[in-house]
Amino acid sequence: MRNAFSTCNYCGCGCGLFLMEKDSRIIGVGPSLSHPVSQGTLCLKGWTSYQYIHSPSRLTQPLIRKGSNLKEATWEEALSAAAEGLKSARQKFGPQAIAFFGAGRATNEELLLLQYLAEEVIGTRLIFLDSLSHSLSYKDLFDGKVDQANIEDIGVSDLLVLVNSDSKEQHPAFSGQVWKALDNGTKVLSFSTRRDPLAKHSQIHLQISPFTEGALLKGLINLYFSDEASRWGTIPGVNELREMARDYSPQRVSQICGIREDDLRSAFSLLSSARAPVFIYPWGSMEATREKALIEDLKDLLMMKGEGGKLAILYPSCNSRGAHLLAKNGIGQDLSQVKVLLLLGEPYGEDRRAILSLRGRLDLLISLDLFMSPTAEAADIVFPSSSFAEKAGTFTSTEGRIQEIIPAIDPLRGTRPDAEILTSLCAQLGAKVPSWEDVRKQVSQILGTPGPRNSEMRFEAEPVPPPPELDESFPFTFVGDAVNLRWHTDTRVMKTPILARELFENYIEMNLEEFRDLGLREGMTAKFITRAGEVVAKVRPTEVLKKGTLLSSYYSLLGPVRVERA
Ligand code: SF4
Repeated sequence: MRNAFSTCNYCGCGCGLFLMEKDSRIIGVGPSLSHPVSQGTLCLKGWTSYQYIHSPSRLTQPLIRKGSNLKEATWEEALSAAAEGLKSARQKFGPQAIAFFGAGRATNEELLLLQYLAEEVIGTRLIFLDSLSHSLSYKDLFDGKVDQANIEDIGVSDLLVLVNSDSKEQHPAFSGQVWKALDNGTKVLSFSTRRDPLAKHSQIHLQISPFTEGALLKGLINLYFSDEASRWGTIPGVNELREMARDYSPQRVSQICGIREDDLRSAFSLLSSARAPVFIYPWGSMEATREKALIEDLKDLLMMKGEGGKLAILYPSCNSRGAHLLAKNGIGQDLSQVKVLLLLGEPYGEDRRAILSLRGRLDLLISLDLFMSPTAEAADIVFPSSSFAEKAGTFTSTEGRIQEIIPAIDPLRGTRPDAEILTSLCAQLGAKVPSWEDVRKQVSQILGTPGPRNSEMRFEAEPVPPPPELDESFPFTFVGDAVNLRWHTDTRVMKTPILARELFENYIEMNLEEFRDLGLREGMTAKFITRAGEVVAKVRPTEVLKKGTLLSSYYSLLGPVRVERA
């Protein structure tokens, strides 16, 4: 048996692990003892991350759509059909009719090659990495005004401020460090709509109404100004921020967020007396514009706090941070004129819905995937990709560690690494094919360059987006939350026998009183109708959710909803 060092291919924590290979099969996984994040442990997804590799459901042959069915094709046929489609769309509609999406599960090298194909070979600016709806580039996010926290900072912080972060579910390795810090006396200030397990161990947990985090942060900023009005006088943007924060008096914040004024004041005293607070926010837990405003508020608050405070953004996928660092274009671009779309990996949540709704207007959808994911099913050409155990490259963890994945086995028969598929497409299109060494060099140049340091301090007075409007037709709000065992569209976890066994059904959590008011009983299903569509799911009553709030085990259902008995 041989052990090959690799990096977990699920969340952004980036745990180091060993893939155990015997007779060209991966038969198990073990955690790295010396890795700074995994430290000898893995979560259940990590421990089982090898199980889908040899799943009989892996795609092992390219597919081309003939009428309404996808039919098996040779690699040559699929590559030339994809190249022809790209070429003719560029001739007919111009390069801006072609868009590319690279998922956060792809390596840095694959994402760089995707950008090369998009920008240099096709000439389009429509390249979306990790998400279709970024509102902030990584450069904007970490512009040097505040320090980024890493996992070691959690241990030395005296106050962890958790914003919407149930890290036990979303980033288990980080969560382990949070609990350890708690044991060692670090205080926790948390706010979220759900009283998660950490809430009762927090010094202060504010259970806020859905999507009112921004108002709460502005309330804390307001209290800073009331406390020390003159301290930030020379920082550009201070007058605008002060003016905006004026509207968020403790009384108003208490109404918007559904919390007590005194609790907001206590949260402020805890924060203002902290020496080295670390703010922790999981990227992607709300829509892009709301998230942008929230992150600017977090940065403003940290600047007001002064020296010592740090920000940890927890990225969802194993290479989301790499994708955000590499992303140049795409941000804020519109897809409505797109005729051809190439997907490297599967988009999920809102992105998946957006792509599937575009489908009818596309002339060609190309998918590179491991399984028949929902977007592969909708595609015209499907290329079977190799998994993380069958290829080389790097992932950038949520803390910025650039970590190797080393092939433990050859690509499964019939599959090819995404990098090879992309270079074959470049060659088919008559373009120069970059060497692997050049790609690696460029990745290390881009990712190895330190971000800006101590750039000019400036407050960004971002208006607070109002919470979604509720009325009699839609009296509830879905809040997004990741549930540990679920993953994006669940395609990979459902091909992992141990996880599939646990994920027996989707469910939606509802406040116990409201559950009873609707006449629901344990085990019953209900219909959840949003403005975009409806789902029928089992309802679980809970006392930890605020009234009017629904939490779904689906990766992302957000916004106003009404509930009917199914
Ligand atoms: S915490 Fe994240 S990176 Fe670590 S094993 Fe679990 S899913 Fe993988």
